[in-house]
Amino acid sequence: MNQARAKSDTVSETPFSVRDLRALRAAARRRPADFAATVPMMTLEQLAAAKIASGDPYSLRWRKKTPPRVTFQLEYDAEVSLYTALEAKELNIYAEALRRCWSLFGITKGDRVAIFDYGTSPVSYLASRSFTPYLAKGAADLLGCLPICNDGAANLSQRAVEIVRFVRPRLLFLRADCLHPFAAEIHNGALRLASYVDALVAVENEGMLTAAERDSYQKSLGVPIYRLLRADAAMFLAPECPSCGLFHIWPDLYHVERSAQEGRAGRLLVTNWFAGSCQAIRYLSQIEAVLERPGCPAGSQHPRIRA
Ligand SMILES: [Zn+2]
Repeated sequence: MNQARAKSDTVSETPFSVRDLRALRAAARRRPADFAATVPMMTLEQLAAAKIASGDPYSLRWRKKTPPRVTFQLEYDAEVSLYTALEAKELNIYAEALRRCWSLFGITKGDRVAIFDYGTSPVSYLASRSFTPYLAKGAADLLGCLPICNDGAANLSQRAVEIVRFVRPRLLFLRADCLHPFAAEIHNGALRLASYVDALVAVENEGMLTAAERDSYQKSLGVPIYRLLRADAAMFLAPECPSCGLFHIWPDLYHVERSAQEGRAGRLLVTNWFAGSCQAIRYLSQIEAVLERPGCPAGSQHPRIRA
């Protein structure tokens, strides 16, 4: 990983030219400073502008002649609706990223896992092959788990609580904005949550609960709450490690930099190495973070970020 130079933080006029990912990856590994200085960033505003100017639903990002196997609407408050598209192979690698998140949270074979999130969230659609066409194996299939999904609307909190009561999942993944209504429902029913789940995982696209909010909910709900970072435009997932408290990054799937800003923290720039058909190269996310050295006490040598 590297820190981008200030001069690199300019926006290219041709942001979505097709790149040879293998060559780019070798360059990022060998000369990260040159990579940061010469490869243009991609922004959400560019994606919206490209869609408006071209009328192409994929914002000129889909470069294959054949139509994509799957298309997902991106969850952004942009000027227009944005979409990403994947081939089956890419979809399956994306699901492997979610599988790694599940494994880091300690989910293993035979566990039940509940998801309180929209169908357009990768946390939902990558969970099981029964949820998504062309997905050979979702995270639950790879691990041998039973997933159960509840749509991520606040008014479905009662059903989420009933899933917790009756299914007793090891973990509940839930949208950060559903945490408050979920907690209210738990308190209304005087439910002792720790008797039903080991932990919660709060998920939000390009955002997250602050540490203070998390601590407050942990205290009131009586179970650990971990966070999972998403940047859907770059098909990026990074889990908060229960051992070191930092977010682990898998360098075989992603290259992460921070944008040039004053001080240590900056916005994360994400390059996706597996999305070849709808590329995300140096995508400028809204996630403010600090890059940390590898060295998780749990033994992994993954790069890590503090967010
Ligand atoms: Zn760790």
